[in-house]
Amino acid sequence: MENIPYKIYLTEEEMPRAWYNLRADMKNNPAPLLNPATLQPVTAADLEPVFCRELVKQELDNDTPYFEIPEEIRNFYRMYRPSPLVRAYCLEKELGTPAKIYYKFEGNNTSGSHKLNSAIAQAYYAKQQGLKGVTTETGAGQWGTALSMACAYLGLDCKVYMVKVSYEQKPHRREVMRTYGANVTPSPSNTTAVGRKILEEFPETTGSLGCAISEAVEAATTREGYRYVLGSVLNQVLLHQSVIGLESKIALDKYGVKPDIIIGCAGGGSNLGGLIAPFMREKLRGEADYRFIAVEPASCPSLTRGKYIYDFCDTGKVCPLAKMYTLGNGFIPSPNHAGGLRYHGMSSVLSQLYDDGLMEARSVEQTKVFEAAELFARSEGILPAPESSHAIKVAIDEAMKAKEEGKETTILFGLTGTGYFDMKAYAQFHDGTMTDYIPTDEDIAGGLATAPQIDK
Ligand SMILES: *Cc1c(COP(=O)(O)O)cnc(C)c1O
Repeated sequence: MENIPYKIYLTEEEMPRAWYNLRADMKNNPAPLLNPATLQPVTAADLEPVFCRELVKQELDNDTPYFEIPEEIRNFYRMYRPSPLVRAYCLEKELGTPAKIYYKFEGNNTSGSHKLNSAIAQAYYAKQQGLKGVTTETGAGQWGTALSMACAYLGLDCKVYMVKVSYEQKPHRREVMRTYGANVTPSPSNTTAVGRKILEEFPETTGSLGCAISEAVEAATTREGYRYVLGSVLNQVLLHQSVIGLESKIALDKYGVKPDIIIGCAGGGSNLGGLIAPFMREKLRGEADYRFIAVEPASCPSLTRGKYIYDFCDTGKVCPLAKMYTLGNGFIPSPNHAGGLRYHGMSSVLSQLYDDGLMEARSVEQTKVFEAAELFARSEGILPAPESSHAIKVAIDEAMKAKEEGKETTILFGLTGTGYFDMKAYAQFHDGTMTDYIPTDEDIAGGLATAPQIDK
């Protein structure tokens, strides 16, 4: 069928009414989170001081396939969803490829990324529980912005611990969050015990995500009426992000299109987990076959060079342990890494799927990622986020392979967001000062040595 429009829009009525929980169809479920004190699987009672009750239920539920999306969340989604599924005719032409390329564009909201899909869900359940507010960390700032927007909509207080180096380098992101009423603190800070301890030990540190997580958790658990929320990695976040894949599938089914390859960038794994969910469901049930490719930076290669072991999710070691592909909680990507996706671990759902051979992974160097970003911007018009551009790079590689082989491969990739706040990184690329540091085997071993030794 060739009369496919440039953009396939769904109507609001066609938007999914339930999120899909991929764990319900996995034969090997991801390993449970462990309580760091007892090394036993966490219980709801362990998690409820940190997370909202309903989100704890979603986190621990490996059986319920569908969770209804509450009407109030659907109403919020209506402000920026359904998001368009775009046929990349212009990019195909530029590449001269017989491949058919589609992308699901999640950057069409002020936060500039898919993170808003889970932010509104998490804020909604906090509100339902009668809480006053939520705390979180943010690195590059997309998650903090998304959560600020959701909290403003629902009238919740929002405290964001922003990695100090980003706080200083991305003042505009910070101001967007403050516009939505969030309280933004550079991390590490002296407002928490864990922050003070880190500052005492490393007074010159510019912070890390793992450290900001520890501070945000402490800020929530030591305050009446607050809980902590996290924008990636967790099962509940993948659940909410399934809206990306469900919408994509509805749109493609409408035109009888079946992708051969589905590609997404992978930081903590939430957009990729959400994008592939309904397709992976068919693969797990033997109803259809697809190739799935996770793309990560060569400078932070958790799937391609990490180990599948239990590790802490944060540097302060206050969070539960998760079994995941990890580089070790002490791994910090080289400071010249500008392309995002710098988390040391990976969603345990995706880790398990990868370990079971159901998904592939590839790592790419950042200058190649920015070359792909620029080619995409010039042909498709959208200025992509560096994170999203990892997926673009591999989509282009696969389209060029299809050209060599003379195949009409159908490719779907996730375009997670826009890059307006990343112009410093684009400047480095344009000025030729961007480098590709790839960690040595010693660097990787050093990071892995920071993971605990747990025999499970
Ligand atoms: C946060 C972010 C990512 C990576 O997070 P995942 O949880 O791996 O999806 C990718 N793209 C953009 C634009 C982001 O903001």
